[in-house]
Amino acid sequence: MPVRNTLKTHSGRSSAKFASSSAANVWGARTVAIHGAEKVDAATRASVPPIHMSTTFGVDKPVSFSAHDQDTDSGDNFIYTRWGNPTIQQLEQKIALLEGVSSNSCLCFASGMAAITALLVGRLSAGDHLVMSDIAYAGTAELARKTLPRLGIHVTLVNTSDLVAFGKALRPETKMIWIESPCNPIMRLTDLSETVSLARARCNKVEIAVDSTLATPAATQPLVDNGADWVVHSLTKYIGGHGDALGGAVIGREPSAVRALCVEASVHYGATLSPFNAWLIARGLCTLGLRMKAHEEGAMMVASFLEKHAAVERVMYPGLHSHPQHDLAKRQMRNFSGMINFRVKGGLPAGERLAAIMMQRLSVVKYAVSLGHHRSLCFFMPTDALVASSFTLAGDSAGLVSYRDFAGDGMFRLSVGLEDPVDIAKDLESCLDDLS
Ligand SMILES: *Cc1c(COP(=O)(O)O)cnc(C)c1O
Repeated sequence: MPVRNTLKTHSGRSSAKFASSSAANVWGARTVAIHGAEKVDAATRASVPPIHMSTTFGVDKPVSFSAHDQDTDSGDNFIYTRWGNPTIQQLEQKIALLEGVSSNSCLCFASGMAAITALLVGRLSAGDHLVMSDIAYAGTAELARKTLPRLGIHVTLVNTSDLVAFGKALRPETKMIWIESPCNPIMRLTDLSETVSLARARCNKVEIAVDSTLATPAATQPLVDNGADWVVHSLTKYIGGHGDALGGAVIGREPSAVRALCVEASVHYGATLSPFNAWLIARGLCTLGLRMKAHEEGAMMVASFLEKHAAVERVMYPGLHSHPQHDLAKRQMRNFSGMINFRVKGGLPAGERLAAIMMQRLSVVKYAVSLGHHRSLCFFMPTDALVASSFTLAGDSAGLVSYRDFAGDGMFRLSVGLEDPVDIAKDLESCLDDLS
């Protein structure tokens, strides 16, 4: 069976790398996800980490009232939860280890957008130049088009998958590059190693940030494998994995830069992750490797089913041979993830009709936004509406052409969950069959 073969060759590739500083240098990814940064609770010997909801911690020596004077790096020296909290710290350490860097290299925030804003606003100043993917998560896209220019940051939007166009967008003084791979919602990939080396060759002092939400550390580790400086995740998606907690993370290659961002963004912008959410996300994260395997297997089967259905015009899934960047996906991703998009024959009217049928009829798949949960989720995204709201391309038609290439007049973004793939396919089939 083609699905099996692909999975086999796929898992035969190099396994994940981990920071050499701790037990992580001998453990595999699944062990790190479970035991990384955990220890038996000293007070109770509980095997499950406790949740520390406390906002404040007893102080046993004189401390300054300013976070600038605090050593937020020093393990157990907790003072106030906006500055640091044991439950949040444990999650941060686990995520850092899974990205292959030292355990003090991650900061968590209240949502993915809070993490993204922390990094962009925390590292860029008025007059700085940012080169960003012309297609990115809608919240990021809108932030880059409206808020950042208002703060005096110069933003150039470009298709980061097109190395020629990307090279033209770079300036010697470019301060930051923002890549999303695969990018939400069109599943276009960017060659991370190529873009990083081109940016390093052309720019004097540039930081490369990758939104790795759709890939997860099970697929790519941009800090250790591709030479990126920053990775961000929406923990709301695959890392938490169960649709019950918002969260975000920034992971950096340089611990001193992470420490500076902690004082600037965690302490002063204040979008602190709730310790309760940190605990839920850490619990979800324990099974990331297993879940990603099942997401990939399910997505492969559902994508193959969709590709054969008479009502379907085109399916985009990095694991399919028909994906225009399938070779790059095989080279760059250890796991093809669980995100598919597809469009139906008959353009926008047919898409809108199918969306209406889905809202009424789907029972396994939920007609809802978001992604990466154990439940399958599907949502229709009309191209003109998205281009008008999120991907406004001022005077630049190349971006729109490239978007339409992937999305047509509108596409269904499908996050394949952990249900039996055959039930997901049957659920979709009952809607698609009604379309003709
Ligand atoms: C969902 C998402 C975000 C935003 O995350 P929230 O947790 O919803 O704030 C950012 N980037 C990508 C790629 C996403 O899918």
